[in-house]
This record gives sequence, structure tokens and C-alpha cells, in this order.
Amino acid sequence: MNTDPKLNVVPFVSVDHMMKLVLKVGIDRFLTELAAVIEEDFRRWPVFDKTPRVASHSQEGVIELMPTSDGTLYGFKYVNGHPKNTRDGRQTVTAFGVLSDVGNGYPMLLTEMTILTALRTAATSAVAAKYLARPNARTMAIIGNGAQSEFQARAFKSLLGVDKLRLYDIDASATRKCARNLAGLGFTIEECSSVEEAVEGADIITTVTADKQYATILSDNHVGPGVHINAVGGDCPGKTELSKDILLRSDIFVEYPPQTRIEGEIQQLAADHPVIELWQVMTGETEGRRGADQITLFDSVGFAIEDFSALRYVREKISEFGMFTELDLLADPDEPRDLYGMLLRCEKKLNAA
Ligand code: NAD
Repeated sequence: MNTDPKLNVVPFVSVDHMMKLVLKVGIDRFLTELAAVIEEDFRRWPVFDKTPRVASHSQEGVIELMPTSDGTLYGFKYVNGHPKNTRDGRQTVTAFGVLSDVGNGYPMLLTEMTILTALRTAATSAVAAKYLARPNARTMAIIGNGAQSEFQARAFKSLLGVDKLRLYDIDASATRKCARNLAGLGFTIEECSSVEEAVEGADIITTVTADKQYATILSDNHVGPGVHINAVGGDCPGKTELSKDILLRSDIFVEYPPQTRIEGEIQQLAADHPVIELWQVMTGETEGRRGADQITLFDSVGFAIEDFSALRYVREKISEFGMFTELDLLADPDEPRDLYGMLLRCEKKLNAA
């Protein structure tokens, strides 16, 4: 019989608790520590169970499940992508996730992951750029100034010292919102009225737009030698941001090729077009940037291991900072095989009340 109730309740981190946790830790520290955990997990890439995420597509968007395990812990995320959602006052991307103990299969954490996804996506992008951008890169263009954009800016500042931003969105109010949210943090911010203007003098170009189509956010003539492209928005079949010509001039770095070939910018290329796995750059097995003129492209789609890292990081942080409620999610009969008896005892209590 189990007498420790703690074993049978699941810590639940709500959106409110997540915001407070992030703020208590501090946004820069959270991004930096999360980036370190992501890097640590990328370096032990071969130990993970890996599969392209399970996607259910519709006309309007996609709902995906993203599972992985390192043999000790198991994690999954439920996430959607619905570009039209913002018109109805909803997020394009919203998510929650679970971390479990592989030894007994019991969940150890249930958490919101909408904010956490923005943080982990930004932290992953910044880690990639640490290996792929020119070391003196300080100016970043951000094309698409929606929900992810400020997180990207903060991560690139925390990890790489990027402090000059050139913002562009087809919706100028999104650009104004992004600039306003990032004011007073030590950025020099230029609000731009075209992609051409935004990419001028940029060492790094982040594309993080939402549109369920083959879009050409960035054309070949926008990308000069030495630029690092952080392509975040193209993350579904039939949804890309870069012209194919850019891909043909770039060294392309990806998370998990079997997933990126379906979802990333490289869906535009032949199935055997060479790509480099980011984890191998982190372990030193493969080179990242080789020279000042090389165009590097991180074809980000978001992979389950990044969510696993984020779940494991949050699980650690809540034991230090709290910021969770205990969820009665797991049945706990006095005798494990007497599940039905537990129901009967509950009935008795209800009838007596
Ligand atoms: P969002 O809807 O909040 O913001 C998207 C912004 O892009 C909007 O402001 C929109 O006006 C702008 N936009 C659309 N078309 C544009 C264009 N042609 N030029 C310039 N701006 C344009 O969405 P979000 O949550 O910021 O997500 C952005 C994208 O990133 C989505 O496609 C999402 O699926 C993707 N995403 C990827 C990852 C990853 O790991 N790679 C993680 C999270 C989100």
C-alpha cells in the first residue's frame, strides 16, 4: 500500500504558474539555462527514441503529438498550428505536455507549453546560431513579429549578444507591438516597412511568419554572403518561407532529418539533398560555420527532444521555486488491484452524504 500521497499526485503547471516561474527565474536566465539543457540533450542525441511527430492535418491547420524518451524519462507535447486563429482572438500555436518516469510509467509533470514552446524554440534557435552565425553577429532582422518574435529576440541577446533588431511584419501593428515589448532592454530597434529594408546589414535573418502555404518571405537577393538564416515559421507540409534558390546556396542544418524533410524548408529539395544534423555540430563530429562568407541556414521545425529538455528543466525548477498545483490525476486504491472497490467506497460515501 502506498502511504505517500505525493507519489500519486501530478504537479500541474498552469499558464499563470508558468508565467510566474519564468519571471521568478528571470527571462534571460530561463532562456540561458534552458538552452544549456537543450544543448546537453542534443549532445546525447543517440540515446533518445526518435520519430517524426504524429501530425493530423486539416484545411485550417495541424494538431501534432511529439513524443521521445531517453530511457529514464518520457515526454510528449500536444501542439497545434492554426495560422488563422489570431483573427478569432486565439493563438496560432498552443501546447501542453507531460513528463513521465519510464520505470513506472507515472506522469511526473503536466504543464502548459504555449509559453514554454516559445521559450524552447527561441533557445534552440539561439543555440544553433551560436555554432552557425558569424561570431561578431550583432544585428538580426526578424520577419514576422507575432507571438514567437520577442522570445527569439531575447534568446539571441542572452546567448549571442545580438542587440540590433530590424523588424518587419505585413501587419505594421505587430511590428509596433514587438518594438514596444522589447523597449528598454538594451536593443536598438528599427521598425521596417519591407523585407528589403529589414534585411539590410543584418548578420542574422529570422523568419517567423505564419501562413499555411508555400510563401516566399525571403527571396534569393535578400541574402548576402555570411548571413545566418534562422527559418522558424516553415514547419509543416505545404508551409515554407524561403525561396528554393536560397536553399541551394546555403549549408543547411536540421534537427531530425526524417521530420524536417516532411515539414521544413527542405521539403522543396530532393529527398537526398545533403543536410547536416545540428547535434553533430554540437558534439564536434561535424563543422558548423567554416568561413565568413558561408551562408548557414537553420531549418527549424521544432523537435520532440527540445520539448523533452524543456519539460525536464521545468520539473527541476518547480522543485526549487514551487509554482504548481497538485493534480489528482492518478487513481490510487488502497490495494492496487481493487480499483473497482475504490469506486464502491466512493459510492458508499456519496450515498451516506
Ligand atoms: P503568430 O500568428 O503569432 O505570428 C505570425 C506573424 O507573421 C503575424 O504577425 C503575421 O502578420 C506575420 N506574417 C504572416 N505572413 C507574413 C509575411 N508574408 N511577411 C511578414 N510577416 C508575415 O504566430 P507565431 O506563434 O509567432 O508563430 C509563427 C510561426 O512559427 C508559425 O508558423 C508557427 O507554426 C511557427 N513555429 C515554429 C516553431 C519551431 O520550432 N520551428 C515553434 C513555434 C512556432
